[in-house]
Amino acid sequence: MAELLNVDDVVARIVRAMQPLSGETVPLIDALQRVLAQDVVAPADVPSFASSSMDGYAVRAGDTSGASLETPVRLRVVADIPAGVAPRMTLGAGEAARIMTGAPVPEGADAIVPVEDTSDTWRSDGSSRLSETVEVFRAVKPGDYIRPPGENLRAGETVLEQGTVLRPQDIGIIASLGLAEVPVYRRPRVAIISTGSELVEAGQPLAPGQIYNSNGPMLAALVRSAGGEAIVLPTAPDTLDAVRGCFEAALQRAPDLIISSAGVSVGTHDVVRAVVEELGEIDLWRVNVRPGKPLVYGHVRGIPYFGLPGNPVSAMVTFDLFVRPALNRLQGARQAAPPEIVAVLGEAFESDGRRSYLRVRLERSAGRWVAYSTGTQSSAALLSMVQADGLLILPEGVRHAPAGSEFPVRLLRPLALPG
Ligand code: AMP
Ligand code: MG
Repeated sequence: MAELLNVDDVVARIVRAMQPLSGETVPLIDALQRVLAQDVVAPADVPSFASSSMDGYAVRAGDTSGASLETPVRLRVVADIPAGVAPRMTLGAGEAARIMTGAPVPEGADAIVPVEDTSDTWRSDGSSRLSETVEVFRAVKPGDYIRPPGENLRAGETVLEQGTVLRPQDIGIIASLGLAEVPVYRRPRVAIISTGSELVEAGQPLAPGQIYNSNGPMLAALVRSAGGEAIVLPTAPDTLDAVRGCFEAALQRAPDLIISSAGVSVGTHDVVRAVVEELGEIDLWRVNVRPGKPLVYGHVRGIPYFGLPGNPVSAMVTFDLFVRPALNRLQGARQAAPPEIVAVLGEAFESDGRRSYLRVRLERSAGRWVAYSTGTQSSAALLSMVQADGLLILPEGVRHAPAGSEFPVRLLRPLALPG
């Protein structure tokens, strides 16, 4: 019997086989979770001017020397500078300009005295009138409460690197550079084929012996969660003609990747393999993993293809293990480690020596996460996936994991806060 392939080697092989798609430009507001196709470089200093970091008075620091509550310094108020307006004046000796947070510091001034260190009884509704003079109760040094130009970013500085999956703060900083559009990789178009004569679409009546197609909608959601565009084909019964027709229809939609579920084991009705062999080429990889040992990978008329298992739990786990990295690569994203924690086993788990992904609930106890089986580990029981907080990973070679031992858990959702 051929040796089983290591999961990580298989993932590396899949990723190597994929090329990032072309780029496109999208409005910044639509760029969340898209992948940058180029570095973002600051075109200018941010901020571009020296600004006040406090509401207060712009002064010449030298004029405030020795100022205190007991010995205030009185300055002549010559201007009122709101945020958003460049002052046209130059501050002279003995002068002060009222200034708002974020407003440009006028020529001649080199420090800000915060309003609470002055005699001004500022009212933030803007109703307080400017007095002719102001008393300063505190000496300031040159540079105090002034944000210099380029404090946040220098012109020419690389702000974000190609391959970054854009987060809200990334969108914010791109906007701060004045860029309204952003270059991103195209979303991979993924055709989703569900095969099986027993399948009926949700919303239709169910005849005896039939089941609803859960893989189709679930795989479409997985594709979207991985940044792809899902193209869902109508389910195909297990006949050569129907399955061939479904692949042809998928190819018509110009996909970047094709995924099918079911029909790739050794059952007599498993016609998917026959069709893929006819239209392209297929590899059946025996991977040292549970679920997902037979992983079908190939090409259909040159388009990369994954044949996932029919059982919904297996379909989802193999998607996360093998298809998600492929989609990352197609959209130029750096591969990211999925969120994992280390948990203490609350009960013993058994495995067959393959790397196993087992559905667990996590409970907080004495400052640690304790993992319990969700009950059944049947790969037909999607409810166990719904109830699971994560997938316990038992590494290759572990057949018995006793209660109290520690293993990694790949999180399937954010962990609930206690209480
Ligand atoms: P197969 O790989 O065709 O042997 O399918 C394995 C199991 O998964 C069978 O019990 C199928 O009924 C079930 N199955 C296959 N496709 C789907 C689907 N799209 N939705 C839900 N269950 C499915
Ligand atoms: Mg079947």
